[in-house]
Amino acid sequence: MSTFQAPKGTYDLTPPRSATFLAVREAISAPLRDSGYGYIETPGFENVELFARGVGESTDIVTKEMYTLTTKGGDQLALRPEGTASVLRAALEANLHKAGNLPVKLWYSGSYYRYERPQAGRYRHFSQVGAEAIGTEDPALDAELIILADQAYRALGLRQFRILLNSLGDKECRPVYREALQTFLRDLDLDEETRRRIEINPLRVLDDKRADVQKQLTDAPKLRDYLCDACKAYHEEVRALITAAGVAFEDDEKLVRGLDYYTRTTFEFVHDGLGSQSAVGGGGRYDGLSEMIGGPELPSVGWALGVDRTVLALEAEGVELDLPAVTSVYAVPLGEEARRVLFGVVTELRRAGIAADFAFGGRGLKGAMKSANRSGARYTLVAGERDLAEGVVQLKDMESGEQTAVPLTEAAAELAKRLG
Ligand code: ATP
Ligand code: MG
Repeated sequence: MSTFQAPKGTYDLTPPRSATFLAVREAISAPLRDSGYGYIETPGFENVELFARGVGESTDIVTKEMYTLTTKGGDQLALRPEGTASVLRAALEANLHKAGNLPVKLWYSGSYYRYERPQAGRYRHFSQVGAEAIGTEDPALDAELIILADQAYRALGLRQFRILLNSLGDKECRPVYREALQTFLRDLDLDEETRRRIEINPLRVLDDKRADVQKQLTDAPKLRDYLCDACKAYHEEVRALITAAGVAFEDDEKLVRGLDYYTRTTFEFVHDGLGSQSAVGGGGRYDGLSEMIGGPELPSVGWALGVDRTVLALEAEGVELDLPAVTSVYAVPLGEEARRVLFGVVTELRRAGIAADFAFGGRGLKGAMKSANRSGARYTLVAGERDLAEGVVQLKDMESGEQTAVPLTEAAAELAKRLG
């Protein structure tokens, strides 16, 4: 170990577990790529103001969890705590919404930073794959995103996840509900901080995890009873489309989520094997966000799935991803001349698209064969002085143990044939 360790709340991805992370990112993004979502990448940091406005001044993310810094030039920046505000900012900046092709559908994958209390499934650096569909109000778009997330989790082999669904109303009906909720909450027995929250963001109080708070909320007014006709119809259509797709969900009228920008459709994916950090992903519609960051009216919907917690969920369910061995052929040279010759064969194989590796460092046969085994390679190529004198290499099938001498000049072609 060196003098240094990964900072508190962070961890490194190292082989072999890192392969699972790559596979999860791949599995989550595959359905998006197949559904018209284009890849977008934005900086790891933004002007702090983007998140203050775009995520919301009253959210935990902005008030407690953001890593902020002042540059030598005096700019106020923040490490990105989430993806949506940045993606929308970038889409507006590139005028993607003006190309006359709405919705603008984008997917992303990257690192996010939140100064949280580290615990299992909760880190200060974590990674998400996300999707945003910008500029269109259409229940089918909300349904598409929920269905694609479900498809991704299923493709990974996850079964113990549930989809929670709610509608948060829009700028017509939400304010009426907000006021009714505030009136109800003001009469409860709550601590100072929560009382302040009632005035700034009362819906968040519904999200309070404490049992004594939850007990008092049993008779709280329900948003469902306040939804305007347009919101009700929209929500019913989303529900009908997901149901028709055979995707199971649960209506959860307490689901409000931590970000200020959500309107109408709101959803969360939870996994029952994860203990208290049970949310593996979440998202919803954010019709007002564009205007909040100075853009035009662009009703949009999106989600972000947490890669770290998805990997934990796979581990909790005991799902082993079917990760093909990385190396197909492993070459073991015995002696100087064989080293040169086999290194040439390995290069040839690689250029032919066959994954090959090599016993570097002039190790003995025993150690090199151990590495060959560990590599998962299907075939090993071994050659010593005598083989070279005869113009052959020994090709060993690691599954059957069978070994055959193959002319050196035909080794690459023979392997290509055998590996299909
Ligand atoms: P939580 O309620 O657990 O704090 P959140 O509502 O803050 O989650 P989102 O902002 O919706 O989470 O982010 C989407 C997903 O990103 C989460 O469902 C989770 O899988 C992941 N995520 C969020 N924060 C963290 C974190 N600190 N560590 C690991 N994963 C995280
Ligand atoms: Mg959080």
